Amino acid sequence: MSHTLEDRIIGYDVWHCALPVVSRRDHGIGSVAGAVEVIILRLTTEGGVHGFGEASPWTVFTGSPEASFAALHRYMRPLVVGRSVAEHADILAQASKSIVHCSEAKAALDTALHDLKGRLTGRPVWALLGGQTPRPTPLSCSIADPDFDADKALMERLKDDGVGIVKLKTGFRDHDFDVMRLDYVRRHYPEFSVRVDYNQGLDRGAALKQVPEIAGFAPDFIEQPVAAGDWQTMADLRKTLAAPLLADESVFGPEDMDRAIAAGICDGVSVKLMKTGGLTRAQQVARMAAGAGLSAYGGDMFETGLAHLAGAHLIAATPEIALGCEFYQAKYFLAEDLLTSPFPVSDGHVIAPNGPGLGAECDLDKVLKYAVNGPVKGVR
Ligand code: MG
Repeated sequence: MSHTLEDRIIGYDVWHCALPVVSRRDHGIGSVAGAVEVIILRLTTEGGVHGFGEASPWTVFTGSPEASFAALHRYMRPLVVGRSVAEHADILAQASKSIVHCSEAKAALDTALHDLKGRLTGRPVWALLGGQTPRPTPLSCSIADPDFDADKALMERLKDDGVGIVKLKTGFRDHDFDVMRLDYVRRHYPEFSVRVDYNQGLDRGAALKQVPEIAGFAPDFIEQPVAAGDWQTMADLRKTLAAPLLADESVFGPEDMDRAIAAGICDGVSVKLMKTGGLTRAQQVARMAAGAGLSAYGGDMFETGLAHLAGAHLIAATPEIALGCEFYQAKYFLAEDLLTSPFPVSDGHVIAPNGPGLGAECDLDKVLKYAVNGPVKGVR
């Protein structure tokens, strides 16, 4: 049968999945070990076409998987079932009003609607977002293992794979550990571009003392040294720092970006779907940054290849995001991804697929394999 944008959405399934990981990641605000928990949303039209989306929450950053699950399963479901992707904008607006925060759940819904719209029309999501032919996006992989020997082995693998950027996670142990690792990376891997991310790990006093020394290693940028709400220290650091200062946890959506520009807290911003609550809002953040002369980076949370795909399409359609991306978890962190094909990384670059929708398939068998709640059927 032929499909149209008016086809009703009659299936709405939500799964809470826990995916085993191969290493430990330590950050200034907390650690991830054992498993990554994500929420997978599947929309199904009356014609049997699916659209998938992912919420990738982190309890210490954006929120909990339980909150994302409840937002999608209980509060957003009634706004979607029985309607069509032709009502995409209305559905999103109502979802935004139906529950505060829960930006990861809103990102999952927006992603699934975009995926579905693309599959119904035969167009890739990057084209729906106004993009031209995607260019390869440089991939950054985070160095965040408390066992630095394990990260040395990872860096050898990254070098072999053609990955040219590493982001050192700092501020989770002590300054000497950070200096030692940065010095090691600079001496042994001169081919790598290096970024630094504190994930809010320092208080004001430590930041004013330690961050300028770290800037002496000439990283591409230094990200979020202090608490999300400590805009004063961000602004003070930015005035004197010999490296660009990036805001991550301080800036979620366009509303934050507007105020952050006015307050002068950063030279750039990490744009994340899980913070903005959707693709269009993420484009807004990147464009606002560019309009103010700031740079933008394609950040992510602890995600599967499904959320990575949404991010890849976003960047493909948003040239303002020019600092590359960090969609490394599907290949370098998860024991097994949820896609039926490897997340598209080649020679250290991510390329958004050209197929309809997100352009790659979510493997339902794997979703069921890792689901901790079982399927929650939502046909009205
Ligand atoms: Mg960050």
